[in-house]
Amino acid sequence: MRPPPPVAAPAMTPSSVVIVLLLVLAACVSGGPVARQIARNVVPAGSQTFQAFAAEGVVTAEGLGAAEGAGRAPPLDTATATADEPFATEDDWDVTGLTGAGLPGERYQVVEGDVVVGDSNDVDVVPAVQSAVLRPLNRTHVLPLPGVVSAPADAASPSDAQLDVETARQFELLRVNYTSLLADLEGTAWAEDMRAGRGLPRIVDKALWLFDLKQVVQEIETSVMSKVSCTACKAGVGLIQHYIRGGKSRDDINKIVYQFCVSLKIQSPRVCEGLTELFGGEVVHVLKRVSLGPEEVCSFVIGDACGDVYNPFHEWKVIFPPVPKPEVPEPKVPTEGAPSFKVLHLSDTHYDPYYQEGTNADCNEPLCCRLTNGPALSPQAAAGRWGDYRKCDTPKRTVDHMLQHIASTHPDIDYIIWTGDLPPHDVWNQTREENLFILKETVAQMAQLFPGIPIFPALGNHEAAPVNSFPPPFVQNDYSINWLYDELDAQWRQWLPSSVSRTVRRGAFYSVLVRPGFRVISLNMNYCNNKNWWLLLNSTDPAKELQWFIYELQSAEFNEEKVHVIGHIPPGHSDCLKVWSRNFYRIVNRYESTIVSLFFGHTHYDEFELFYDTEDLGRAVSIAYIGPSVTPYYDLNPGYRIYYVDGDHKDTTRAVIDHETWVMNLKEANAYDYPIWYKLYSARAAYQLPSLLPQEWDTLINKIAQDGPLFDNYYKHYWKSSPRRPPCDGECKKRMVCDLRSGKSHDRKVLCQEIESRIDANTRTGWRAWIYNGLALSMSMIMAIPSFTYQIPKYVFGLG
Ligand SMILES: [Zn+2]
Ligand SMILES: [Zn+2]
Repeated sequence: MRPPPPVAAPAMTPSSVVIVLLLVLAACVSGGPVARQIARNVVPAGSQTFQAFAAEGVVTAEGLGAAEGAGRAPPLDTATATADEPFATEDDWDVTGLTGAGLPGERYQVVEGDVVVGDSNDVDVVPAVQSAVLRPLNRTHVLPLPGVVSAPADAASPSDAQLDVETARQFELLRVNYTSLLADLEGTAWAEDMRAGRGLPRIVDKALWLFDLKQVVQEIETSVMSKVSCTACKAGVGLIQHYIRGGKSRDDINKIVYQFCVSLKIQSPRVCEGLTELFGGEVVHVLKRVSLGPEEVCSFVIGDACGDVYNPFHEWKVIFPPVPKPEVPEPKVPTEGAPSFKVLHLSDTHYDPYYQEGTNADCNEPLCCRLTNGPALSPQAAAGRWGDYRKCDTPKRTVDHMLQHIASTHPDIDYIIWTGDLPPHDVWNQTREENLFILKETVAQMAQLFPGIPIFPALGNHEAAPVNSFPPPFVQNDYSINWLYDELDAQWRQWLPSSVSRTVRRGAFYSVLVRPGFRVISLNMNYCNNKNWWLLLNSTDPAKELQWFIYELQSAEFNEEKVHVIGHIPPGHSDCLKVWSRNFYRIVNRYESTIVSLFFGHTHYDEFELFYDTEDLGRAVSIAYIGPSVTPYYDLNPGYRIYYVDGDHKDTTRAVIDHETWVMNLKEANAYDYPIWYKLYSARAAYQLPSLLPQEWDTLINKIAQDGPLFDNYYKHYWKSSPRRPPCDGECKKRMVCDLRSGKSHDRKVLCQEIESRIDANTRTGWRAWIYNGLALSMSMIMAIPSFTYQIPKYVFGLG
């Protein structure tokens, strides 16, 4: 049995390295005026919100944008709308620059204390005239009817024997850790080292060992953070504060980090070197400009598990127009048999141009199966022909095979949503040039295989180099992200109207009218990514994306359009910043009658998450579908999604009518050198759903929590039927079910308490499970004894 139950994002695995480095690097102190100016709260400009909107014609007495032919807000003056990039040099971080002259009227203001330090006039608004991008075909697709749920043969509960083995293992771990903890508590090691002037290395080594870095890496990989990671984070932050106070330069810090990385065997030396080189500069650049303490930084990055530290530097709220929320009508089930769209959803291709069959798949780096990993040392270690379940990305032949299979099996696709993560996971080794090469190559391939079919792309977190690094528009120096957004604009343009160019170049998000009354909005979710360390400088609605999103939705509401939202990182995932996610949740609540569905990727699993009425957590208001990854990275089968969407007819709801997940059995493909793509399941048939309205999914979640075979079936689909999926115990089940209820990140206590207690009541509570759970708890408590571990930096620095 694999100790940490699967929960999320193997996608993030190599990022764990980055985070460990970030944690170790985190929180230099710069003090200075910059930090004070980052303090901000977004508030309405007095009580004049309405007037402010009216001033720009966004809302009038007759309704939003009534003066404009297509009901859109008038475009801002382009000459001034780009004048919001005040930070010309890397030392000029003064947000008061946002109040530069020549900007049009006010929408809302950014204030620090009582002082206005900025405003939001740089919001881009799409031009007035838009034409639909999809040709009407009015096909009616035949869908499978709800059928019988079959329990999978390989049910995934651990056996008693497995529990025994795991319990014994936990016991041994506990004993070892406890013994060393007691020895250290006596203090002899610390005192001796300090007296003898041996100083840092041994003690630090010991401290980090005590923190159980392996567990930290594991937690970061699975995005399930506990107090262990929190403690390690704070200690790392403390360490770096020490170095900064000691006047160490950026190069010195890079060297130290490299040594840590190598001597603690976090990664191989070359990976350590690449990571330090690639990330060191930017991370130190950012951290020199924030004055957050360890508590605040770690709460920001880790979220829930690191305490809910109130951090006024990162509290903000988007502003809604003064238009009351329309009454929510009774949810309408799409008419059976009416015309529908067939929509392909591709996500997380992670195509690796250097994948090589027969190379070492069992390497100790974040990405294997490449020429640089050398030949396999045994037949078992050899990279498979069609991909590998280990830490390997997608070979070209598999991408080609899948796309050809799709083109021939689904010739009736109406449009494609493509939710990002194109490059491979060699995060220590990436360059802008190579990422752009992969972007251009895959775009060309998609265009060639699906001629004439509109494709709506969204930006992943791996498209940047280094990964997760998406500086907001206020960064206009060498680190600026323009290199990527300008190319996205050029590449995406073949599928999108030219009107989207301004928002794509500004923030890689856009809004497109697919059909009259039907809109797709693509969001750049990297501004909610808590591994995007640029947000430590200023997390306030980067690029004004959410404020723009509200304008789009308000316009859509007035125009009676229905909206599908696409993006990469799901807003409820723990990788999404709490404050961003909270604002997003409010938006989904306000526009629940306009947003029909949301579509994301990033976790690589086949799953979904629900949004609930903030006033009534029993009422589901919307659903985000999380499509499976193409890459098998890792322990997964490659896969893709097909949706059927209510099409063009007078009663259309634009709702998703049904969806299918298609996969390739990688094990068999490699064994027989014959890949077969097949439909794993249809949602309505597999789960006996009368429709895919949010409340039906909510009912399903409640059933999944109670019904063992139904959960097992869901679990099998979640892993795309991978033969490598681990067993799932009670804790794992609770986390999985809670994920489904979490359209908002870092709020599991509120969203899941009730359903978790119901699972507890139904879960086997035999003595084995009881002892096992007790031991696991003791472990995490020992690792997180605050009175001891929080003191470590002080001991280390001789400050305690
Ligand atoms: Zn991914
Ligand atoms: Zn991703």
